[in-house]
Amino acid sequence: MENQVRVRFAPSPTGYLHIGGLRTALYNYLFAKHFGGKFILRIEDTDQSRKVEGAVENVIKTLKWAGVDYDEGLDRDGGYGPYVQSQRLELYRKYAQELISKDKAYYCFCTSERLQEVRQKQLTAKLSTSYDRLCRNVSREEAERRIAAGEQCVIRMKIPLEGELSFDDVIRGKVTISHKMIDDQVLIKSDGFPTYHLAVVVDDHLMGITHVIRGEEWLSSVPKHILLYNYFRWQVPMLAHLPLLLNPDKSKLSKRQGDVAVEDYRAKGYLKEAIVNFIAFLGWNPGDEREIFFMEQLVQEFTLDRVGKSGAVFNIEKLKWLNQQHIKLKSNEELAQLIKPHFQFAISDESYFLKVIGLLKERLSFPNDFIEMSGYFFRDPEFIEEAEMRKYFEPETHSQLKLLADRFEALLEFSHTSIEAALRQLAEELQIKPTKLIHPTRLALSGRTIGPGLFEMIELLGKETVVRRLRRAVEKFRAV
Ligand code: GLU
Repeated sequence: MENQVRVRFAPSPTGYLHIGGLRTALYNYLFAKHFGGKFILRIEDTDQSRKVEGAVENVIKTLKWAGVDYDEGLDRDGGYGPYVQSQRLELYRKYAQELISKDKAYYCFCTSERLQEVRQKQLTAKLSTSYDRLCRNVSREEAERRIAAGEQCVIRMKIPLEGELSFDDVIRGKVTISHKMIDDQVLIKSDGFPTYHLAVVVDDHLMGITHVIRGEEWLSSVPKHILLYNYFRWQVPMLAHLPLLLNPDKSKLSKRQGDVAVEDYRAKGYLKEAIVNFIAFLGWNPGDEREIFFMEQLVQEFTLDRVGKSGAVFNIEKLKWLNQQHIKLKSNEELAQLIKPHFQFAISDESYFLKVIGLLKERLSFPNDFIEMSGYFFRDPEFIEEAEMRKYFEPETHSQLKLLADRFEALLEFSHTSIEAALRQLAEELQIKPTKLIHPTRLALSGRTIGPGLFEMIELLGKETVVRRLRRAVEKFRAV
């Protein structure tokens, strides 16, 4: 138990679940499952001003939908709760006090006006902006007096003034930074809430997190965290910062160039299998040519040493392709469950419905495409475009289709092989190419010029419907 892997996904509830957030969650999940560990969901809601109603529920719903399910979280106590930071405020205050007593943190009374002035001066002098550490010199007694007198304050961490700090990142390798580059970070804000930096370190430690796997944008925060771990004399977890997600033009993935909320993709009809498969490859690869992966295989094969450093391009065409592949791999019954909520006809014959799905499956990019593609399997096509008719109907087509209808009607066994044989036989007798019959027949039966294999389609539609539609078309073509 001691050495069990424990990882976490720690979203801030500021709205929807971003594709990048799902990738972080997925990699943590895969890593945990690969090593038989635990995956924890922690809600980081210490920035109350950015909190959005319903965001937590939304994240949970989306994670569960994608199958990136957590072992511990707000509704699943694993003994390390609470799992919501706003319910852990006392802990952060206690640890901030510990830092004060160790002289690793101090009270700062600077007003926002003063901080603004300092910043402005630094900007004018073309210096990098940071706190000028004025309050670092305020004695503890004076600070306590001012607090007792009701003065507002924050708690800042003391960064060493000299030296440098190094750490190893599983993905990025060794990173070194001079202490001079690090600001005296606020740990507790004037509203009593901790900042991300204090909360994340305290929680990762108390929750026994062994590996911190998260987006590259957090890499710059690590030095502060390492110092905090050192101040508390806690062991630093393993760190792995995932490569950035990029738009095809290599800019950082943003809303401007497309959807970034997982729920938008879900609403558009992307299957969770396709999304998970796609997202797994945003930074990771199996080391060979395979592209189609299900969750169980990902769990088996996922390791951090196959995660790359360079940014991962979000290629929507790839996602669409994966969606098609995963649709093809679904059973007709599974697809029916996805299609039914959108299907407007009453399904009187379930087995017929499933067979239609089976026939059209290859052609679907989204489950919903079925609605538009399958109409003629459930009712006669409403009309046939005149322009199309002219293209496929020659003067003699009318009499040829009439003959074909007779041949079909006479078939004792109505299977795609006997149907095909009958059509080819007639073409031969008429000394025409089979396509002269095939195209107008498809048009007459479906009102379309493309679709699934014609003979399979005819078999499924059934003799009665096929003969009726052919004869109906013959009547109609007479008028053209
Ligand atoms: N709360 C941070 C976020 O919203 C989590 C960063 C981390 O994983 O340490 O992404």
